[in-house]
Order: sequence, then structure tokens, then C-alpha cells
Amino acid sequence: MEKQKEYLDAMGIEVWRLRHTEADVDESEVTDSTALETTVKGDVAKSNGGTNTRISDMDLPSLEQQVSSCQKCSLHQSRTQTVFGVGNPDANWMFVGEAPGAEEDRQGLPFVGRAGQLLTAMLSALDLERDTVYIANVLKCRPPGNRDPDGEEVMRCEPYLYRQVELVNPKIIIAMGRFGAQSLLKTHESIGKLRGKKFSYSDTGIPLIVTYHPAYLLRSPGEKRKSWSDLLLARSVLSETTNG
Ligand code: URA
Repeated sequence: MEKQKEYLDAMGIEVWRLRHTEADVDESEVTDSTALETTVKGDVAKSNGGTNTRISDMDLPSLEQQVSSCQKCSLHQSRTQTVFGVGNPDANWMFVGEAPGAEEDRQGLPFVGRAGQLLTAMLSALDLERDTVYIANVLKCRPPGNRDPDGEEVMRCEPYLYRQVELVNPKIIIAMGRFGAQSLLKTHESIGKLRGKKFSYSDTGIPLIVTYHPAYLLRSPGEKRKSWSDLLLARSVLSETTNG
């Protein structure tokens, strides 16, 4: 398809990669992550104390409202605004990144900077419009200077993402980047070991695929092919789910 070729070009993937279809995905690499998981629900109780019930009862608009006034960690002091997440609340695909960058902090929307443009191209290569998927981050506030999020920040913010996932109830989650993948899967494994496999998110049973972060792909365009193969794996997992 011409359009897909255009977007694969935009991702920097040579057109011959179009032949890399689901059939090329090595099924032997598909594993279950049960051993790696702990439940984030437990963390909800721990990190939210008395407000736990409220978060688990919230719909997306009230959750967004709650997030916008969150002061559970020090990031609220330096943020311009929170970045809750965006997209179709009934999406099949949910993409989860790390934390807002400078542009996201300014606009209040995830993945609107350069990495976001590449993400949009990746979606288009999959024939997905940006507004048909749901896009969120592990952290809802920008760490100053784009430093790595710390464990305390993740623990405080995690219940928001967990509830977002529950509410959107996607058929597949794509964890983008080492940090996003390690946070969602509760592991210290390298991204090289995590990508190319099928996991599931916490206790939700929702399949989760790990791939490189678009910002990393901008720095290391040679890895885009691997990322494309991760997305094809995700698409094949999704079609198994939808047909089964
Ligand atoms: N990187 C992320 O992980 N998330 C964003 O929203 C933007 C850049």
C-alpha cells in the first residue's frame, strides 16, 4: 500500500521490510510474564492510602481531574501542567511511554514533540490514526531536565496508569522504552531481552509488547527495523485476541 510505504519511509525503514509480516514472527519467542509480575493493584492500596477506593471508582474524566491536582510527589512543583493521556477511550491499542518532555509539559499532551512525530509515523505504518489509539505515560509530570524518573515518583503515579488501563481496557499495550517496560513489568531486565516477547500487564491479562522508545529510535535509526517487527508482533497478538 502506497501510504504505508510512505510512512515506513518516514520511519526510516527500507521498503523491503514490508515483506516482514506476522508470519516472520518467531512464535517460540512468545512467552508469558506471570513470573515477572507483581500486582499494581497492591501498589494502589499502598500508595494511595485512604483514597484508593476513589481512584478505583473513577471514570476517565474524574481521574484526569484528580491527576491535574496531584501533589503526591515533588514533580508537581516543577511541572507546567500534568499530562494525563489522550486518545480513544475504547481503543484497542494503548501506547505507554515514560514521562512528558518539555513540549508535552507545555501542551499538556503526550508525545507531541519529535519523538511524538515518529510515534505518529509508526502508527500510520500500522494503518492506525493517532486518535483511534490511546497514548499515555508512566509518569504524568515532567521530571526536571528530562532526568530519569525515580522509584518514588513511579510508585506514586502508578495507580493512575493502572486505572487508565482498566478503564480503556485495550486489547494490547505497547510499552515504549526501557523505563516504561521495566515499570510496567516490574523487572530490571534490559529492553533487548524484553522486546520480541509477549507479556501481560499486571493482573489485567492484557497482552503487553515491549519496543524501543521513539526518542531512542531517533538517536539510533538502525534499531527501527526491530521496532517495526515488535509492532508486527503486537498486531499479530491483537488479531489472535480479536479472533479468539
Ligand atoms: N517521551 C515520553 O516518554 N513521553 C512523552 O509524552 C514524550 C516523550
